[in-house]
Amino acid sequence: MATHKLLLLPGDGIGPEVMAQVETVVSWFEKRGLAGFAIEKGLVGGCAYDAHKQAISEGDMKLAQDADAVLFGAVGGPKWADVPYQHRPEAGLLRLRKDLGLFANLRPAICYPALASASSLKPEVVEGLDILIVRELTGGVYFGEPKEIVTLEDGSKRGVDTQVYTTPEIDRICRVAFELARTRRNKVSSAEKHNVMKTGVLWKQTVTALHAKDYSDVELEHVLADNCAMQLVRWPKQYDVIVTDNLFGDILSDVAAMLTGSLGMLPSASLGAEDAATGKRKALYEPVHGSAPDIAGKGLANPIAMIGSFAMALRYSFGAIEAADRLEGAIADVLGSGTRTKDIAAPGTNAVSTSEMGAAIVKALEARG
Ligand code: NAD
Repeated sequence: MATHKLLLLPGDGIGPEVMAQVETVVSWFEKRGLAGFAIEKGLVGGCAYDAHKQAISEGDMKLAQDADAVLFGAVGGPKWADVPYQHRPEAGLLRLRKDLGLFANLRPAICYPALASASSLKPEVVEGLDILIVRELTGGVYFGEPKEIVTLEDGSKRGVDTQVYTTPEIDRICRVAFELARTRRNKVSSAEKHNVMKTGVLWKQTVTALHAKDYSDVELEHVLADNCAMQLVRWPKQYDVIVTDNLFGDILSDVAAMLTGSLGMLPSASLGAEDAATGKRKALYEPVHGSAPDIAGKGLANPIAMIGSFAMALRYSFGAIEAADRLEGAIADVLGSGTRTKDIAAPGTNAVSTSEMGAAIVKALEARG
């Protein structure tokens, strides 16, 4: 059995609480002989600043470079509001993303049947929803130059951001989308605005050429990004994989996230380029939520986003598809049985603690045989 190198970076606030539940899940897989892990643990965010005066130490960066996958909890909190800007907790996450070259952000939106009524949309629109948004993370308008505010001769000001993409950048993110679609329902929807943007024209041309060359077995459709936003709230189940740029991906993934209810339910993954020799990608898995200082230390955090992020690591970094299916199935079973943490419990009903939810998921794993 292969041993997977896993680095755990729990971080601040509820990060360590939800990561502890992943550790119980990891132990279960190991005890059952279904997967083997070599686990390292490190510090990131405010706790790293307290220990090393930086948001992530060189030693922990090295562990991240060497790992097959990094599991990241959450960083930040009022305690570190006044630390120097370059050492603020979020700088640890940004450094990880940059140094590991994580250009592909994967945000699934899965609506468990038991939670369909918690969505702001009608249950029949979201029940059974399972879509994946693949967002380009390191290019586009957030990074393009010039990026400035200049004062004009008449004293008024002009702000400039630059949307820029090259064909290799578009090619590599769309490849990720096509590869993932092959493991799912085999459909990619490419969202851009070729009607008004040159980068949109280039995006459409590039994805069309890539599709014809290497992925003609996958269904490809083009959708204007504004229409995609509308379709996501009208009938989201028409989608399988949506691939899009950094700016549109930021917005569309937040829209898709809210289809499924609580922030405590949303996992994510960020992937880097494939290593030519090993075929492996650098990867970081993290819940979408932050460190939730308002509930930290109270046993109220929902660990499902963090455990779901580990399920994504099993699927996308370790190729352990059966283990990932089993874990996601166990989460669905627990929700189906009515077990809820406070954030997803109906008002007036009983809620379980973070560790009780973790234990219930381990029990459901066991019950699946
Ligand atoms: P947040 O996601 O931490 O919390 C928003 C709300 O959702 C809070 O009411 C919180 O209690 C609730 N919530 C979040 N996760 C939950 C969970 N697992 N279970 C139950 N309820 C949950 O966002 P915020 O309050 O805007 O930010 C708090 C801190 O986290 C800030 O310092 C911010 O900078 C940081 N942050 C970090 C990340 C990250 O590490 N990737 C992401 C976002 C925010």
